[in-house]
Amino acid sequence: MVPRDPPRRPQLGFLYLPPYRVQGISIAGEESVVQIPELDTCFDIGRCPRAALSSSYVALTHGHMDHSAGLAYYYSQRYFQGMGVGTVLCHPKMEQPIHNLMRAWVDIEAQKTPYNVKAMEPEEQVEIKNTIFLRAFETHHTVPSLGFSVVEKRSKLKAELQGMPQEQLIALKKKGESITQTLEIPLLCYTGDTAWGPCFDRPDVLNAQILITECTFLEDDHRNRANVGKHLHLDNIVELLERSKAKSIVLTHLSRRTHLAQAHRQINDAIKPEDRKRLFLLMDHRANRERYLHQQEEFGGD
Ligand SMILES: [Zn+2]
Ligand SMILES: [Zn+2]
Repeated sequence: MVPRDPPRRPQLGFLYLPPYRVQGISIAGEESVVQIPELDTCFDIGRCPRAALSSSYVALTHGHMDHSAGLAYYYSQRYFQGMGVGTVLCHPKMEQPIHNLMRAWVDIEAQKTPYNVKAMEPEEQVEIKNTIFLRAFETHHTVPSLGFSVVEKRSKLKAELQGMPQEQLIALKKKGESITQTLEIPLLCYTGDTAWGPCFDRPDVLNAQILITECTFLEDDHRNRANVGKHLHLDNIVELLERSKAKSIVLTHLSRRTHLAQAHRQINDAIKPEDRKRLFLLMDHRANRERYLHQQEEFGGD
């Protein structure tokens, strides 16, 4: 008998949540990378699957190896493949360690890889696309950590000026008065690893149209483990569903020990049917594939 062939590489989870594709791999302790191609951004880079290279930005939530091990490879492959210098956005406490990491690679490889790293204080924003901003916010993990929200900023005529004739508006503007206000539309949020806490009171988290959050523990007797590791438990997701306005909530960071059939049972027991419709598991390949085939039938594939 011939021996078994080796296991295939982990397959990327994939959800099409119009207008965004949410794709990546997320298994607690092993690897988390969640890419939104339309936003040119990868959230975390636990390892660096080939698809992740096409994003100009990596928004790094924290330094745990399962979220950061792909950093050097991301920079290096982007450069090697002529894709431009990658930019990593990170917690201020991570900036120097990333310089140190890239310095170590110069010694190992005897060559220099160009890279950009930008520290983001909580509440700091970076414009990642025209009028679309990535904002960092504080989360509650065992090491310095950030979550990220993506908001669109639209400039809109001030409410009190609506209906005013064009000439008068132009006259006001000439006088130097501001006639517009900025409207903020929360598009997407990625929490990274975090315990339950004040970050789940934020309007840009609760009003995000797509909320991608971790849920490391589902079992009743794992509540304490969630507390110790500063992770979320399914109980927290139940509360989050009550509060969140999101059209879609994507759960990541389940452990490999969690069997999907068992996860579905636990979710069905804990969560109301109308809420289940907007809840997705990134790594539920079978259900997500079926859903995508339906979408293709309905809207046409490319
Ligand atoms: Zn993790
Ligand atoms: Zn972690």
